[in-house]
Amino acid sequence: MTDSTPRAASHSAVLPTGDWPELLPGWVWLCGAGPGDPGLMTLHGLNALQQADVIVYDALVQKDILAWARPDAELIYAGKRGGKPSAKQQDISLTLVDLAKAGRRVLRLKGGDPFVFGRGGEEAQTLVQHDVPVRIIPGISAGIGGLAYAGIPVTHRDVNQSVTFVTGHDQTGETTNLNWKAISQGSQVLVIYMGMKHIARIAGALLDAGRAANEPVAVVTEATTKNQQVLETTLENVVADIEASDLEPPAIICIGRSVKMRQVLDWQGMLEGKPARNLDPLGRGRPAEER
Ligand code: SAH
Repeated sequence: MTDSTPRAASHSAVLPTGDWPELLPGWVWLCGAGPGDPGLMTLHGLNALQQADVIVYDALVQKDILAWARPDAELIYAGKRGGKPSAKQQDISLTLVDLAKAGRRVLRLKGGDPFVFGRGGEEAQTLVQHDVPVRIIPGISAGIGGLAYAGIPVTHRDVNQSVTFVTGHDQTGETTNLNWKAISQGSQVLVIYMGMKHIARIAGALLDAGRAANEPVAVVTEATTKNQQVLETTLENVVADIEASDLEPPAIICIGRSVKMRQVLDWQGMLEGKPARNLDPLGRGRPAEER
């Protein structure tokens, strides 16, 4: 994906005037950095970056965002990828406690939203248990914002009245012990985080549960970054198509008819000059607003 959107130089990020909260010594702010594109970070997040004297960040946080930190801020990488056993989770939480107790102004920066499959709740709980005051700054989650960058509305009136966010594996790296039949029957659109490793099992379970073999599926990797890639496929072909591709995690996998809306809403493609492929991919015949 080429990013032709005009972008301010990273060092010149300016917070609008306003009554912004102060990050005080001894506090930890737990903040979502959004899915990748620095512009998707919130203003509270920018305010935090400009005050923190130590920033503990995850693998999915884009380096461009860290460029907004104070030049003298200490940056600590706390990346964990790929569903490995979370032996270090407690270490990270306790590092945050130690930094706060040392009187630092601590920013814990996580990809997406800190409370969506991000263990933010665990970290915040440990902090509170150690009498460290916290502030939570939500972020745009990859399962919503990442799909939007692929031109896929996570809800669409003609398609779904519910959406289910699922994680493809649990803390041990194994497939989540979920009732796939119930999920399959209960929600028209499924958005799967961390689904690449076990996609064969997930797709198989959904097919067994009665989802249509030709149901549209999109795999969006490195969503909202310059390296974003989108694979459009179907439930029966998703495994083979991923294998035949060079796609690597992180990926959001969307299963449902809303994927078809990409044929008219691939605005990133349009930025590159590609026309819409189908102005009416759901075959409704006229614009939704007229109905
Ligand atoms: N808290 C994050 C999710 C953390 S779990 C959020 O709210 O987005 C990590 C998983 O998130 C990845 O395995 C992938 O499934 C998804 N993810 C995060 N960023 C992504 C991105 N830029 N593109 C695609 N998937 C992403």
